[in-house]
Amino acid sequence: MSSALCRLNAVLPPGARRAPVARAHARSCLRCQAMEARRRGLRRGLDALGDEVLAAPPYLAAAVMSRLGDQRSRPGRPRRDARLARIAAAGAGVGAAAAAAVLTGVALRKARTPA
Ligand SMILES: [Zn+2]
Repeated sequence: MSSALCRLNAVLPPGARRAPVARAHARSCLRCQAMEARRRGLRRGLDALGDEVLAAPPYLAAAVMSRLGDQRSRPGRPRRDARLARIAAAGAGVGAAAAAAVLTGVALRKARTPA
């Protein structure tokens, strides 16, 4: 059970409203606490950048365009439709995981409720 709640806590964005069972799990799970600490550290790092804009090194644009050109000429490069299908499948997977997590929370709540 904790594995499913760990995954749920991992996919929900920071600040998202969580089921009480997921919140209780996060308070007692070292894995979830470590993940949240990493998120906080990343957020602090990004916040520290503020409005700072870094100038790209002069060679970067040419290097990126050169790599993109190489990608297009590769014979094994997946077609755009295939890539979009993979992205849609990944999105559906995340949605299914979120739905399963919600259903698990509902089932756990019903199991706790005295008849
Ligand atoms: Zn956890």
